[in-house]
Amino acid sequence: MNVCFATSECVPFVKTGGLADVAGALPVALSRARPDIRIKVFLPLYARIPVFDHGFVHADDLGELNVTLGDEPVPYHVWYGHLPDSEVEVYLIDCPRFFHRGTLYTDHVDEARRFILLQKAAFDVMQRYAFSPDIVHSNDWQTALMPAMLRHAYAWDERFRQARSVLSIHNLAYQGLTHPHYAWEAGLPVDHAVPGGAYHMDGAFSCLRAGLVEADQITTVSPTYAAEIQTPLLGCGLDGVLSARHNDLTGILNGVDTAYWNPRTDAHLAAHYGAGDLGGKAACRTALLAEFGLSAPPDVPVIGIVSRLADQKGFDLLVPELEQVLREREFRLIVLGSGAPWLEGFFRSLAAIFPDKVGLFVGYDEGLSHRIEAGADAFLMPSHYEPCGLNQMYSMLYGTLPIVHHTGGLADTVRDLDEHPDQGTGFSFHDARPDVVAATLHRAIDTFQDQDIWRAAMRRAMQQDFSWDRAAASYLNVYQRALSQRP
Ligand code: ADP
Repeated sequence: MNVCFATSECVPFVKTGGLADVAGALPVALSRARPDIRIKVFLPLYARIPVFDHGFVHADDLGELNVTLGDEPVPYHVWYGHLPDSEVEVYLIDCPRFFHRGTLYTDHVDEARRFILLQKAAFDVMQRYAFSPDIVHSNDWQTALMPAMLRHAYAWDERFRQARSVLSIHNLAYQGLTHPHYAWEAGLPVDHAVPGGAYHMDGAFSCLRAGLVEADQITTVSPTYAAEIQTPLLGCGLDGVLSARHNDLTGILNGVDTAYWNPRTDAHLAAHYGAGDLGGKAACRTALLAEFGLSAPPDVPVIGIVSRLADQKGFDLLVPELEQVLREREFRLIVLGSGAPWLEGFFRSLAAIFPDKVGLFVGYDEGLSHRIEAGADAFLMPSHYEPCGLNQMYSMLYGTLPIVHHTGGLADTVRDLDEHPDQGTGFSFHDARPDVVAATLHRAIDTFQDQDIWRAAMRRAMQQDFSWDRAAASYLNVYQRALSQRP
């Protein structure tokens, strides 16, 4: 099976969010699951990707190529390499005028055009290498035009006749709204992009909507989020299109890179531990508290937060009640995050009021995020919505019980300990209200007093299967469904 996997970011080369993790891990897991699969990953060459460090070589055999956008030929080069420790081929599309912009994503008027170049270049390279994909797998709006390009711009090419398309949604909120003119540049029917057309939305040509209309199969990153985005509340205006496609829409939970997130081997930790041997976790807890100049007797739980401080993450729900909970109860709160100034200010004021109870680091710190996952007893994630969420999965693998809003991927991964005493792996609440979040914190602190119940839940949490192999098997099923849609 031949797969073209197109993405705007990919670990370990360049990352701003969860899409990069998926792009770095899923193709490798797919090729582990099916040795006969051949995958070509296409990605822009941003200025910040150190090509030589990652072993890329210039594709001299291709030389300088051109993609035509509208009637302008745009020259580009290609660099060739692999995802680490794998046979998965990676092609970097090198066009400094388009991709050397300081940040990966911009608000420039030609933002959509930059990624139209990426997508057309991917087709161009496949043509030059006589590579006939069975599956063209797009991710988010930046590569969402490929299903439409297959049907229109490249319909003439025999090589792509058998190809079927899959579009994965990692974040529905970003839709690539642009001028209908760019539909013409992409080789798509402009009447679809103007008002009344299937690709049109909010006065603009919507790249994501075009993908949702044209892809043979659609996936998103958790089953519950797949259902939620078909409702007006979380559908970002696309709920109608998504519910019309519900038969072709599948939610597949992201996996966790267990080579990097594993309390038995994690290089960031003061001590190591596993489900059968929890001893090292106490040492991690003591070390974490000490890092923040805090201490706590064994019956006082440590609750951690590691997050972007963005509206989505639900910290506004803590503002009215958390100070009161901190006065009433004995627990420690350790927060790592950055983002909205008003939320940073909220946590700064809590740390000032409760210097013996609250530890705060405003910023981004990879190592500290691991030490919090290991050293905390519980982990708080009150997100308003969460397509998949990774931190609750890391928490469970580290024996740290998540306290979460029952939404999206959080609902699919965390079982409430009171609702399911024999299967619970954390605490979840249904109503996103400050008093409900506070009550759930009380519930977790109460439960911590019964260490038999808590430790049993820790062991269950640590034994969850969040492997990429499980996710890859589900993606292969989606590929098969797409292939069965061949006429
Ligand atoms: P999202 O992609 O919406 O931010 P996820 O839970 O899916 O949320 O993934 C967040 C990732 O970013 C996790 O790997 C988390 O550990 C990491 N992260 C978020 N904020 C920080 C921070 N301040 N320091 C270190 N890592 C962070």
